[in-house]
Amino acid sequence: MDNEKRAAQFANGMQSNIKITPEIIKNSKTITCECGGVLFREELFFKVLSPLISPSGQEQLVPMPVFVCTKCGKVPSVFDSAECFTR
Ligand SMILES: [Zn+2]
Repeated sequence: MDNEKRAAQFANGMQSNIKITPEIIKNSKTITCECGGVLFREELFFKVLSPLISPSGQEQLVPMPVFVCTKCGKVPSVFDSAECFTR
């Protein structure tokens, strides 16, 4: 086995060995919305692909799952780094 494979196997082993304890949860960063909300729900956002870029050559609806804040109803920027949903 070459070193690269061994390294990959090691990394996989590391991941599966991590036990999520209450201590880890307490010390981990919480994702927060700009409004301070910390609860999110999954919603669907629809984009319309232009016939020019659509694989079928016709206008196409593309559903995209996104998380919105349950407090303000917006997509926090942490889930929208490319500003796909806030534009
Ligand atoms: Zn919010």
